[in-house]
Amino acid sequence: MTLTQRTLRLFVYVLVIVTGAAICAALAMRQTQQHVLSEEARRASDRLALYANTLHTLIERYRALPAVLALDTEIRNAVRAPLGEQAQASLNRKLESINGAAHSSSLELMDRHGVAVGASNWRNPKSYVGNNYGFRPYFLQARAKGTGRFYAVGVTTGIPGYFLSNAVLDDDGEFMGAMVVKLEFPTLEREWAQDDDLLMASDAKGIVFLANRTDWRYRELQSISVEDRADLLSTRQYDKKPLSPLRSRVLQRFGPGSHLSRVEAPEGSAEYLWQSQAMPDESWTLHLLRKPVSVNEDIRNAGLAAASLWLMLVFLGLFLSQRWRMARLRERSRNELERLVEERTRDLRTAQEGLVQSTKLAALGQMSAALAHEINQPLTAQRMQLATLRLLLDQGRIEDACQALALLDQQLTRMAALTGHLKTFARKSPDGLRERLDLANVVDQALLLLDTRLREEQVECVLHLARPAWVRGDAIRLEQVLINLLRNALDALRGQPHKRLEVRIEARDDQWQLSVIDSGTGIAAEHLPCLFDPFFTTKPVGDGLGLGLAVSYAIIHSLGGQLTARNGDDGAVFSFSLANDFLESEP
Ligand code: ADP
Repeated sequence: MTLTQRTLRLFVYVLVIVTGAAICAALAMRQTQQHVLSEEARRASDRLALYANTLHTLIERYRALPAVLALDTEIRNAVRAPLGEQAQASLNRKLESINGAAHSSSLELMDRHGVAVGASNWRNPKSYVGNNYGFRPYFLQARAKGTGRFYAVGVTTGIPGYFLSNAVLDDDGEFMGAMVVKLEFPTLEREWAQDDDLLMASDAKGIVFLANRTDWRYRELQSISVEDRADLLSTRQYDKKPLSPLRSRVLQRFGPGSHLSRVEAPEGSAEYLWQSQAMPDESWTLHLLRKPVSVNEDIRNAGLAAASLWLMLVFLGLFLSQRWRMARLRERSRNELERLVEERTRDLRTAQEGLVQSTKLAALGQMSAALAHEINQPLTAQRMQLATLRLLLDQGRIEDACQALALLDQQLTRMAALTGHLKTFARKSPDGLRERLDLANVVDQALLLLDTRLREEQVECVLHLARPAWVRGDAIRLEQVLINLLRNALDALRGQPHKRLEVRIEARDDQWQLSVIDSGTGIAAEHLPCLFDPFFTTKPVGDGLGLGLAVSYAIIHSLGGQLTARNGDDGAVFSFSLANDFLESEP
């Protein structure tokens, strides 16, 4: 994946996370706002029910009044026939006192044509008495159904009020007139005005006739039909009061009669929680409008909480997916590793098998080379001794021939010992023999074997041998080591102007140290580390096998010693130490 693609992917991730957080916050804020609003609406609705109940109780209290008065004899007589002046005055006073006692706004009695024959406000210049209210619905309703009710602005007084009427019947049940009580609600409106909420009552046509704010009164909540308008004119319900529409738009509904609306209110456009409750007895609807409380902090907190929750979930998801991916990666790496290990193991096993095979072959080669190496030397010596023997016999020197034969016998014994020793090898007995022997004698034997060559090559031989130097070991094998070292020294001395060979045996602590020092070529620094490796040789092919030092090293090592090589003052120094066998050594 390129850098641009990665940046783009990162950008998309960030965008999704941020957008998700914003959507969550917005949804939570909306939800909280709705919850807060509907809670508020529920509270407003409870309050509205309380108002409706109060109003209903108030009206109910007066409902019986005209019904009771319609049964009164004096009142019935007053509408039965035209009244005399005195009777009229008496009726007016009676109505006046009852009105005062009942705390109603006014009481009036109408004859069968709707003309007020008596009224509690008879003293008032704008008294009802003598006026015809036959067009008013409350009169018409009383005549038709026995009772009537009508909220209207008084055509005479101009004061709005609720008219409750009851028919006055004669003994035969014939309509003679109507008894009307008028209720005004100034106290109610005053009480309502204390409230922070807006309270209104609208009639069946949707016209607000009662409100605790003056500007909201005589407003049309819905458009008025042509018939209704005609009806308003004929009943003069709101008489000269100008009606104007109250425009509103529902923003959100919470339930029947409960919504959030934007209202083009007289004091300006505003949002209101609008609760409505029907008053079926009066065919009215009571309204409560409340400005929604600002709960910005709660809404903001809800938004923040939702965004945080979203982010938490996102990060948890990312964390889990990352862990899953890591686990999968680990699993894959483990499988890969296992596969590699298996593959390598298989390769190694194959390689090892090959190695074992080649090691076997190498060992075989090494063994054959060692055998040839060890047997060649005595065979050459023996050939020379046989030639000497033939010469002696030719000359009839029997005595000397016997001596030479003894020497030959000695050589053969040594070879037999060597093959015996090789058998020991074959039997895998690395320790071999452990006899007590004098190291100086071993040196003598080895020098004796190489005597011819030493003399031929005119080598100055210097010996510093501590005698006896008792050690524990295998004489034949130690002699083999010495012959190897001496022969190598002689090889190194070849062609040197001054040929000096020194053999030393010195006591070092509890050990005997044997050194072979020559004045030869010395050892090249780069050859020092690999001197004892099998088949390491610097000699021409056919001359050296590179086994002498390897075999010697192994022999000394098996006797518990260490063979080392270094460069001396003018040649090489090879030395090894073996533990002093004190047991019977000289003090
Ligand atoms: P080989 O004699 O068949 O080469 P060796 O294991 O006996 O095998 O010797 C290994 C090599 O060590 C020789 O080829 C020679 O380079 C080096 N070396 C051994 N002894 C001496 C010595 N005295 N002086 C210098 N080089 C030596």
